[in-house]
Amino acid sequence: MKDKILKHALLNAISYKGKASAKVVLNKLLSELPHLKDKIKVIIKDIEKVVKEVNKLSHEEQKNQLESLGIKQEIKKPQERQIPDLINVKNKVVMRFAPNPNGPLSLGHCRPALWNWFFVQKYKGTYILRFDDTDPKVKIPIKEAYDWIKEDLVWLGVKPTKIVIQSSRLKTYYKYAEELIKLDGAYVCTCSPESWKKLVDSKKPCICRSLKKEENLKRFKSMFKTYKEGEAVLRIKTDISHPNPAIRDWPAFRIVDKSNHPLSKEKVWPLLNFASAIDDHEFKVTHILRGIDLSISDDRQKYIYNYFKWTYPETMYNGKLLVSGIKSSSEAREMISKGELSGWDDPRLGTIKALR
Ligand SMILES: [Zn+2]
Repeated sequence: MKDKILKHALLNAISYKGKASAKVVLNKLLSELPHLKDKIKVIIKDIEKVVKEVNKLSHEEQKNQLESLGIKQEIKKPQERQIPDLINVKNKVVMRFAPNPNGPLSLGHCRPALWNWFFVQKYKGTYILRFDDTDPKVKIPIKEAYDWIKEDLVWLGVKPTKIVIQSSRLKTYYKYAEELIKLDGAYVCTCSPESWKKLVDSKKPCICRSLKKEENLKRFKSMFKTYKEGEAVLRIKTDISHPNPAIRDWPAFRIVDKSNHPLSKEKVWPLLNFASAIDDHEFKVTHILRGIDLSISDDRQKYIYNYFKWTYPETMYNGKLLVSGIKSSSEAREMISKGELSGWDDPRLGTIKALR
């Protein structure tokens, strides 16, 4: 019995800066020898005596004494965080990190950038850095940001296997758009935004939806020539009575008369959901890590996958890292141009560039 008390007193002392507690030792002893419950009053005195002696010893002495009892100290190893398994892994894992180069990477980008990397490393897969840069109007890419992002990833220890720039793939997206029109999965809508909204809000199709594919192909060609910005968009045929109005015949291509894009001055641009859906298929992406705020993208893109009879990648969602007070890329860009911030590495921006 004495040995058991001593064992628990030493173990407790070693774990807690050399000071054992009689109460803890009592509990440990009782869990080992429950029948002692009736004799607490007696054994607590023994425990207190042993604890007092043990607490006088140095750390080394406590360890030696424990070993002389024939007990190796049970060191609790801190649990290592394991990278979870991906579901449905069949062949080579291919994942992508797809930032818009309209600024350097922010803290919010770190999570997807790194998690994709962790998974790819675990499965010895392919890491695609894809520049989702098909917005020449609002979230306009910055020429230098393509390199900034590559540098940010080097700093994070991420080594992409492949780099894809969407703005250099516009012709590919046009090809798929035509295919989709031929499959009767898309149409060119020339309704005004107001009349379109009125119809779609009441779950009614517009007149363009029932046009023949030949007419739609003609209209699609006209988007590159005669139609002007705002006069025509290519829409994906979805469920016009879908409970979420944002899914109903969502726009896939639009016209931008004056492209402010640093790499391309084209006039017809795919919207994010279209380009992303095509690329995930073309580059054989197997698993997508998506911000929980973008779960609607799945619902939209699956229509394209169904028309083409492709298999949709496995999708996992991660929370969005919001750091209060940190500006969006567009806000930051404006503040930098006004001189309110010293540059993209201004620490107030919370960019990786600022941390480096
Ligand atoms: Zn229409």
